[in-house]
Amino acid sequence: MIQYSLSNLSKSYVTQSEKNQVLKNISLTIKKGDSLAITGVSGSGKSTLLHILGTLDIPSSGSITFENKNFSIMSKEEKAYFRNKELGFIFQFNNLLPEFSTVENVAIQALISGIKLKKALTLASDILFTVGLEKKAHCNVATLSGGEKQRVAIARALLLKPKVLLADEPTGSLDQQTGEKIIDTLFTLNKTLNMTLIIVTHNNDIAQNMGRCFELRSGELYEKTYTVTTTHSNL
Ligand code: ADP
Ligand code: MG
Repeated sequence: MIQYSLSNLSKSYVTQSEKNQVLKNISLTIKKGDSLAITGVSGSGKSTLLHILGTLDIPSSGSITFENKNFSIMSKEEKAYFRNKELGFIFQFNNLLPEFSTVENVAIQALISGIKLKKALTLASDILFTVGLEKKAHCNVATLSGGEKQRVAIARALLLKPKVLLADEPTGSLDQQTGEKIIDTLFTLNKTLNMTLIIVTHNNDIAQNMGRCFELRSGELYEKTYTVTTTHSNL
């Protein structure tokens, strides 16, 4: 099933002195359950594209639809509802609330959508098992390690079982080993829940493990293909 459809999408930022065309005529379809990496050097427009996919920014021209809903005709309220109900976001810096516990930081996602506190905390406790943080549920989130904090952010993003997980350099602030574990977790969720996974990264190892890999270059989006080299046994 086609989930996202982007057609001739462009994005420019206009300042007093110049027009900066960040994305140029991007056409792309994404199917439910796809796993995508979006790569490119710093400033190539990765975050801009992710924000547009997440209705946090709008294109200057062209169109974007999600399950046949055109973003251009959605009101602010419809977009907010859509983001909360269908999307999960993970950012490079996890945006947690330092004065709250792990379970509270996750439950907040449910409270925003109108779920009552007790139910929200139960849902949050359940999802903490999925990311292996159940023992840290009642710790102040500020006392957790970098990798654990990023797991809290993943749990929060997953709480309402989003159809799509959008992650902007989710391992950018972590050491390599911790980063790999986080990516494994996301990849497992992609497979087991058929949740579409869109990861912005400059890490080529991560990118090559995704189902599809794209690179933004001079505003254009290129799909990369990797050839798998197999070694043939003589037996
Ligand atoms: P990346 O995530 O690949 O590092 P970004 O999408 O953040 O790149 O930025 C792409 C370009 O768009 C940069 O030149 C950046 O300065 C510019 N840009 C991003 N957001 C804005 C904004 N809100 N206003 C003006 N320029 C912006
Ligand atoms: Mg960025």
